[in-house]
Amino acid sequence: MSGGGGGKGKKGRGGLGGKSRGHAPVASARLEGLPVEERGVYEAEIIGLSHDGEGVGRANGFTLFIRGAVPGDRVRVRVTKLKKSFGYAELVDLLEPSPDRVAPPCPIYDACGGCQLQHLSYDAQLRWKRQTVVDSLTRIGKFAVRDDGNGEGIVVHPTWGMDEPWRYRNKVQVPIGERDGGLVGGFYAQNSHDIIDMEACLIQHEQGDAVVNAVKAIGRRLGIEAYNEATHRGLLRHVVVKVGFSTGDIMVVLITNGDVIPHRESWIRGIRETVPGVRSICQNVNTEQTNVIFGDVTRVLWGEAYIYDYIGDIRFAISARSFFQVNPVQTEKLYRQALDYAALGGSETVIDAYCGIGTISLFLAQRARRVYGVEIVGEAIADARRNAALNGAGNVDFAVGRAEEIIPAWREQGIVPDVIVVDPPRKGCEPSLLDTMLAMRPERIVYVSCNPATLARDLRQLADGGYTVREVQPVDMFPWTVHVECCSLLVRK
Ligand code: SAH
Repeated sequence: MSGGGGGKGKKGRGGLGGKSRGHAPVASARLEGLPVEERGVYEAEIIGLSHDGEGVGRANGFTLFIRGAVPGDRVRVRVTKLKKSFGYAELVDLLEPSPDRVAPPCPIYDACGGCQLQHLSYDAQLRWKRQTVVDSLTRIGKFAVRDDGNGEGIVVHPTWGMDEPWRYRNKVQVPIGERDGGLVGGFYAQNSHDIIDMEACLIQHEQGDAVVNAVKAIGRRLGIEAYNEATHRGLLRHVVVKVGFSTGDIMVVLITNGDVIPHRESWIRGIRETVPGVRSICQNVNTEQTNVIFGDVTRVLWGEAYIYDYIGDIRFAISARSFFQVNPVQTEKLYRQALDYAALGGSETVIDAYCGIGTISLFLAQRARRVYGVEIVGEAIADARRNAALNGAGNVDFAVGRAEEIIPAWREQGIVPDVIVVDPPRKGCEPSLLDTMLAMRPERIVYVSCNPATLARDLRQLADGGYTVREVQPVDMFPWTVHVECCSLLVRK
């Protein structure tokens, strides 16, 4: 699963009167005879949601994508762009609201774009997320899905949501800019690099907001300049805050364009006085002209180099740059499900492909004889090894490299897995890796995925190679965004 959801993207979702998207118009000759016209105003019934959260409507029988509309709405829209078989439109009037429509609680929802579904009730979101999984499995994977436990096919369970679907993110990354001579920080306005100030983000931990606001206030008082992308001048680029949900630990990282932080001691004192839980204040230096947030050099300004958090009873060390799942509450549910599906008795050999910092590997290691983890990013494997040591897990081996290269090498070495777990990024697994997995003939395969489309494609290859896809559990890792995570169980026929 890749980080994904809830990030402060630049891609907004205009509500009423929102901007149209930049789709190129098609030559008008090709569009003759369509039942709608560009700039025409029509009534539409919303019958679905696209994968990026736009309402899918029908006007005169023609399909239109409409930002800000939800299934069940009856709306009046203006067509903004036409293609041969579908078009885009903007919302003009809400004629009859869907029973699933709610008022977005966030005051900056429309301008921000980090969330896409705050205007849809949480229940409806969870239903929709399951449905996107079902649709991918049937349309892309050509699988039968069993409904309500009846008939043949894959069981797709209801999406596991959060009891409290707000304030779930443990990491805040805020770009810093200047307005009227003072620091501001929040998110980029749609399609621009202008920074809009943000006091609160409802999906991030409260302490994250508190720290960012404190840093902005202290910076203003000390006369600190924000980094300016256009001139490549100024100091403060980003503020990153990480919070350990179960430990209360807080880490603050100031990302600076240059080595020297003026009034360094005042910064440190100010942050410590305003935010009592702070255990680590770091500086990361990034002098490149780039959108990448972190540079290569990190130094501790005050306190520890690491903070800690738990997922289940496994302890993880988190550094300024290390990856950590952003929703620890749901991550625990997802990985417990992976462990359940692996059905380990203690004697098994398990491979964890795309293991990242070893989160799933360490879960599995509690119940397996030996776990082999592979991951392409060397720093993540260094973290994985540190985490294994931290938890006294002596039965895990980690390797740096491509899963599709390392796992065949393991096979040559005579490693015979009883269970293979994969958790690939959005693009899914390489077909050659799936072939290797089939050749290794593990009893079970557990496929964790952040993209239902590539999941369905890969499950098809595994099913054709001799595995039965038993069940899929969707988990809501990123409430109010369009992302959905799944854990799937395959068993050898
Ligand atoms: N389970 C992990 C997260 C997996 S995210 C955890 O909880 O930490 C997917 C991971 O796959 C990322 O860490 C990414 O760096 C890694 N990756 C991407 N392509 C890869 C490849 N070809 N081989 C191995 N790892 C890869």
